[in-house]
Amino acid sequence: DHRPGRVARVDRGVCTVLTEDGPVRATSGGALLAAAAGDATRLPCAGDWVLLGTWPDARVTVEAVLPRRTALIRRTAGKDASGQLLAANLDAAAVVEPMHPAPDAGRIERLLSLVHESGARPLVVLTKTDLAADPAAVARQLAAVAPGVPVLPVSAERGSGLDPLRAEVAPGRTLGLLGPSGAGKSSLVNALAGTTVMPTQSIRRVDGKGRHTTTWRSLVPLPGGGAVLDTPGVRAVGLLDGATGLDRAFVDIADLAAGCRYGDCGHESEPGCAVRAALESGELSARRWESWRRLHREIAHETRRRTTRT
Ligand code: GDP
Ligand code: ZN
Repeated sequence: DHRPGRVARVDRGVCTVLTEDGPVRATSGGALLAAAAGDATRLPCAGDWVLLGTWPDARVTVEAVLPRRTALIRRTAGKDASGQLLAANLDAAAVVEPMHPAPDAGRIERLLSLVHESGARPLVVLTKTDLAADPAAVARQLAAVAPGVPVLPVSAERGSGLDPLRAEVAPGRTLGLLGPSGAGKSSLVNALAGTTVMPTQSIRRVDGKGRHTTTWRSLVPLPGGGAVLDTPGVRAVGLLDGATGLDRAFVDIADLAAGCRYGDCGHESEPGCAVRAALESGELSARRWESWRRLHREIAHETRRRTTRT
C-alpha cells in the first residue's frame, strides 16, 4: 500500500514530502535508486508527485516518481548528458529580475530558454517597481527580450501588480520563481501567501550565516490552495543540447530568419539576409543578436565536448 505525496524539497538525498498527514521525511527506495543510475533526473525533486512506502521499522521511502508534466532542467558540468533537475510539475515559471538597480536582459533570455524547454508557462516578473523612476518604460523595453511572454511589474513592498501572479497560484496550480539572490523572490512568496512564510534577505542577513539551504528549492503551499516553488540563487545556468527552448525564447529571430533568401543563411554577409536587414534598421538590437549567438555557440560547444569525450 503506497500513499501519495508531493516533494517539497530535497536535502542531501533526504526528501521532505507533503502528505495528507503532514510532512514526512523519506529517502529513495532501492528500485528507484537502481533506475536512476546513470540518469539522476529520475530521482525525486522538489515539485514531484511520489508514492511512499513505509517499512516495518517505520522508515519511509520514495518508491516511485509519478510522470512529470513539466521539468526544469539545467546542464551540468560533467559528461552527464541528462543534466540536473531543478523543479518538477511547475504550471508556470517566472523569471524574476529586480527593476532596481537594473534588470539583466541576458539573464532573462537564458532563463526563459530553460523555462520554454521545461513545458511550464513562461513569465517575466520585474520586482521593486517602487524603486524605479519609470517602471512602465522598463517593462516596455523588456518586452522585446521576452517575445510572447507576459512581463509583469510588481512591488512586494506596496503589494501592487500581484493579481496576475495570484492567478498562477490558483488552487491546484504551482508557480516557480527563478532568479538571482536579492531579486525579491522570498518577498514575493510572502506577498502571495499574505504572511511571512519565507525569510527575506534582510532577515537572512541578521541570522549572519546566509542559511540558503533552509530556503533552497522548496515548495511552499499557499493558503489559497496553490503552491509556489522558490529556486534561490539560480543565476548562471547552462542550457542542455537540443535547444528547442532557445528557439522559442528567440522566436523573433527565428521569424526573421525564415525571411532570409537562402534556407541555410548564416546571417553574415549573404545577400537577402532578413536578420542583417533587421539589425541595420534597428528592428533587432545588436545586444539581442549577440545574446542569441552566444547561447547557440555555447550549446554547440557543449554538444561537441560531450560527443568527443564519451
Ligand atoms: P530573494 O533573495 O530573491 O529571496 O530576495 P528577498 O525577497 O530576500 O529580497 C531582497 C531584498 O530586497 C530585501 O531586502 C527585500 O526587503 C527587498 N525587496 C524585496 N521586494 C521589494 C520591493 O518590492 N520593493 C523594495 N523597495 N524592496 C524589496
Ligand atoms: Zn540571414
